[in-house]
Amino acid sequence: MTRQPETHRSRVGISSCLLGNSVRYDGGHKRDACCTDVLSDHFEWVSVCPEVEIGMGTPREAVRLVGGPAQPRMIGSETGHDWTDEMIQYARMRVQELVRLDLDGYVLKSKSPSCGMQRVAIDWGEGAPPGAGAGLFARELMAACPDLPVVEETFLRDPKRRESFVAQVASRRLRRTQSGA
Ligand code: SF4
Repeated sequence: MTRQPETHRSRVGISSCLLGNSVRYDGGHKRDACCTDVLSDHFEWVSVCPEVEIGMGTPREAVRLVGGPAQPRMIGSETGHDWTDEMIQYARMRVQELVRLDLDGYVLKSKSPSCGMQRVAIDWGEGAPPGAGAGLFARELMAACPDLPVVEETFLRDPKRRESFVAQVASRRLRRTQSGA
């Protein structure tokens, strides 16, 4: 596929670690070659790391989701610090900023308690079967932008799913530009 001129590329949000930025709790990244080497030709990335942006620092203790699947709490694995309220307050504010940027799509990091779109592990308590849901930032993003094409990076490794996502993003951008938004 031919590289698009900068002005013709769709603006797409992405979990920062997928671009190779060292923002993970362990000081590492999760660079995804599909995003950096293939989709970068088509998309202008808007990189977001919710955990860094709320001041958790890098490296930092890992967090996990605990409690009921609809409203889990985000808890520090070592200190037990409860990050839930800070993360939700930040996410609502940050999502509104992203809405104003007219994003045409979003690529989220799978399994993350902040960014995961689905199947994120949730600890329901002793004896309960492991639950699964969305990360707290992803949940706010998808609630505020129900029509935004959103995928996890693992989906993009399948060429058909990748082409489908690129098409959805292009279609949204076309509709937006035609409507003058
Ligand atoms: S998954 Fe999200 S919160 Fe975790 S390092 Fe990547 S961008 Fe940051």
